[in-house]
Amino acid sequence: MSRVVIRDLELLVTVDAEDSVLHDVSVAVEDGVIAEVGEVPARPDDEVIDGRGRLALPGLVNLHTHLPMTLLRGIAEGSDLQGFLTRVWAAEGAVMDPETVELGATLGAVESLLGGCTTQLDMYFHHEAGHRGAVAAGSRHVGGPTFFDGPGPDGLEWQERMAGLRAWPEVLRSIGGPAVPVAAMPHATYTNSVEHLAEVSSLLRELAPDGVLHTHVSENAAENADTVARFGATPTQLLASAGALPPLASLRVVFGHGVHLTDSDRATAAAAGVTVAHCPGSNLKLASGALNWTRWRADGIHLGIGTDGCASSNDLDMWQAMRQAAHLAALTSGDPAIGAVDILRAATIDGARALGMEHLVGSLEVGKRADIVLLDLDQPHLTPVHDVPALLVHAAGRGDVTDVLVDGRIVVSERRATLVDLRQLLDRSRGRARAAAAAAHAAQEV
Ligand SMILES: [Zn+2]
Repeated sequence: MSRVVIRDLELLVTVDAEDSVLHDVSVAVEDGVIAEVGEVPARPDDEVIDGRGRLALPGLVNLHTHLPMTLLRGIAEGSDLQGFLTRVWAAEGAVMDPETVELGATLGAVESLLGGCTTQLDMYFHHEAGHRGAVAAGSRHVGGPTFFDGPGPDGLEWQERMAGLRAWPEVLRSIGGPAVPVAAMPHATYTNSVEHLAEVSSLLRELAPDGVLHTHVSENAAENADTVARFGATPTQLLASAGALPPLASLRVVFGHGVHLTDSDRATAAAAGVTVAHCPGSNLKLASGALNWTRWRADGIHLGIGTDGCASSNDLDMWQAMRQAAHLAALTSGDPAIGAVDILRAATIDGARALGMEHLVGSLEVGKRADIVLLDLDQPHLTPVHDVPALLVHAAGRGDVTDVLVDGRIVVSERRATLVDLRQLLDRSRGRARAAAAAAHAAQEV
């Protein structure tokens, strides 16, 4: 069986336990697995990628996004979270049928892959269609059923949503693609009652003890204030009372945003091993607030990095998100000492751990699945290299990504997506986006 060999890399950023950076090495990938790192003797039938002048790093993990919302990019500008949701939900209700969700997910997955992001935790309704769309582009896509008390934009009743979760492990197997955990995604505590949150988390635990529960939590101050006024409890306290956050939970719980967690929320979240998906671009743009990275870390909160959806933060650029996270961490703590390594780990191995996939991806080590990104170092803005993590977080960008492997498969080659017809994808996306824009504008005028 032929293997892929990335030959003569200038730098290999492993993100292993020691944060090792290797020089002048080759990487052999066999059956989707990193089989060798170092000197790799050539075989005649190797498929060779020239690594000269290139840096390899693990595929980035986007820990909070809504891929199909790429079709709503720029549709609800100038609003806070609540105004934004009014306009976006109108557009979604009008145009987001399964076919459109699949299209938007493919567009989002292609944007992600071209920018070096190989895995995303993607919350969106019509989850089967979204998963199919992202997997078609070659992504390691963690999707799953979404939950709303009411019918939601897809018009499903509660019992239909629960049936969707019950069927999800089998549907995931039937769709195929790179291995991912079973996930369930109640939208938020302001759209799901405590009883419903309890039902979802207990069914998820039954179906997949190591499954992923993902929900929006304490994104802005108004959300917290409204929740406390309505229920006498913060979003985190509601999740805890639903039994979704038991101490030492086997479930992996990921909070989207978590900007306004109180001191006691953070203690609860830390005890439950929660990871907060920090989305600095979205939080800054919607004026949602500034998460204090250093304090959250000190309180024992695990942190990953996300972009959020394109309706709020406009693109899926994880390089931008890493840099925003680093800048915001310095600003909120008043301390410039936050290391680029900390940010890089959050965007790779810590994101993988949040999804229960740290044994599979998130670092480049022999035996792991080959989710590998190559950057072209032969650029003025990447020269010279004094500090590799700082180069990646503070100077590199998605335009530097040349090749991407997911599960050992070459999904981006020389800056081109290999599994999709990009021209056709863009044309179809523009067509559906026009209908979405009309619905959003109508909602704004009401
Ligand atoms: Zn979100």
